[in-house]
Amino acid sequence: MTDLTNLTIASALNGLKNKEFSATELTNAHITAMENARDLNAFIVETPEIALKQAEVADVRYANGTALPLDGVPIGMKDLFCTKDTQTTAASHILEGFVPQYESTVSGKLWDAGCTMLGKLNLDEFAMGSANTTSHFGNVINPWKDQTNPNIDLVPGGSSGGSSAAVAARLCLGATGTDTGGSIRQPAAFTGTCGIKPTYGRCSRWGIVAFASSLDQAGAFARTVEDCALMLNTMCGHDAKDSTSSKQEVPDFTKALEGDLKGKKIGIPKEYRVDGMPEEIEKMWQQGMDWLKDQGAEIVDVSLPHTKYALPTYYIIAPAECSSNLARYDGIRYGQRVEGEDLTDLYELTRAQGFGEEVQRRIMIGTYVLSAGYYDAYYIKAQKVRRLITQDFENAFEQVDALLTPTAPSSAFAIGENDDDPIKMYLNDVFTVPTSLAGLPGMSVPAGLDSKGLPLGLQVIGKAWDEETVLNVARNIERAANFTAKPQILGVSKAA
Ligand code: GLN
Repeated sequence: MTDLTNLTIASALNGLKNKEFSATELTNAHITAMENARDLNAFIVETPEIALKQAEVADVRYANGTALPLDGVPIGMKDLFCTKDTQTTAASHILEGFVPQYESTVSGKLWDAGCTMLGKLNLDEFAMGSANTTSHFGNVINPWKDQTNPNIDLVPGGSSGGSSAAVAARLCLGATGTDTGGSIRQPAAFTGTCGIKPTYGRCSRWGIVAFASSLDQAGAFARTVEDCALMLNTMCGHDAKDSTSSKQEVPDFTKALEGDLKGKKIGIPKEYRVDGMPEEIEKMWQQGMDWLKDQGAEIVDVSLPHTKYALPTYYIIAPAECSSNLARYDGIRYGQRVEGEDLTDLYELTRAQGFGEEVQRRIMIGTYVLSAGYYDAYYIKAQKVRRLITQDFENAFEQVDALLTPTAPSSAFAIGENDDDPIKMYLNDVFTVPTSLAGLPGMSVPAGLDSKGLPLGLQVIGKAWDEETVLNVARNIERAANFTAKPQILGVSKAA
């Protein structure tokens, strides 16, 4: 049989409809790929039996002519989404053994649309990180290799590193992610995949383990822009169980894909030309502008003057919200418990042993910036700067329809490379964090390879609720870039 793991979601749906293969065959091909690529450590838990049961009912629906929108599409679920009766850990020791009694809204929508669940994908602990090196369940390995140094293992980006690695290595057709400051877009860039974070409020946060509630947003990974649109069609929508989920109508995102960019204005924010950015990334950015011009867009220089404050602002607000959200892990209600002499002792021992180093660092920073003496100086100040950053985008969007930037300031780096320097690690998010603070939609699309043979991504940022323009611009980049390179490690090739 042809290699089913190389299909896109759109082509797989066609093949299923035309009875070229069954949902069970498609799911089995991915189960084999997933098992062959265990060295990548992309999954925390594999659930082939669940996937096959779902595939069986999908096949019945195809036979009856009652197929659902994503019927029989095998996907991976970031282990931050609560899945009923399947362990959900947020990659933390403190949640090891936690089996939710309920399904998150977004994962539930995907199952209701017919997707099959291959397993729960690895991530940085509580989605805190940019390299997937903070997981209690070990590092995820990027399936791409540096051609000048092929023996070292590279990071797949983070925090959704399991998602990006699994989609790139053809272990699933698509995957969910969450993005608080870049966790979908940066890993997509590091693995040559497409990743979209919709507007804050597009997807329900209900049942997603919380990191920073005013920033967390679910989104999709896939290998094409169209596949991301197909996933978003299912994932988005109002949910009465999340008061920040929007009632905004959800369009058919696939309709936005076609059409060139005539009459569209694309902004280039000058503050994103940061010191020390590799020349190759600068060149790729210029290439992106040229591609968009060829499609009829006008390139306009814009200014987002408060950009340089975005990272410090994020690293006050995100830890503040994390320290509050993670207070619930007390050893009483969920997961791990370490008994102590009294209740305080139990709390302290459970949290000291349950949380990893990065999570503890963030809880301490967050507690500090929220403490009585420092609240005004840090937290309130950061909220004010956040407002100014949002205003910068609002001003820019009076002149342009979308913005184009690089997704990340480097290609994938070696595992361990930035681990001893948290500030250097935080700099990875320099281009993605401002969008998150403003709650705007952003997408990374693969644009080419650098001189090491590693993928580079371009980021398209849109107005609030205007994912359609983001997808349209991204589709135009995708068409021009014609990115067909594949990573060196693939689930199927190993079996052959
Ligand atoms: N890398 C950023 C952080 O560590 C963003 C993470 C995310 O988007 N979840 O906080």
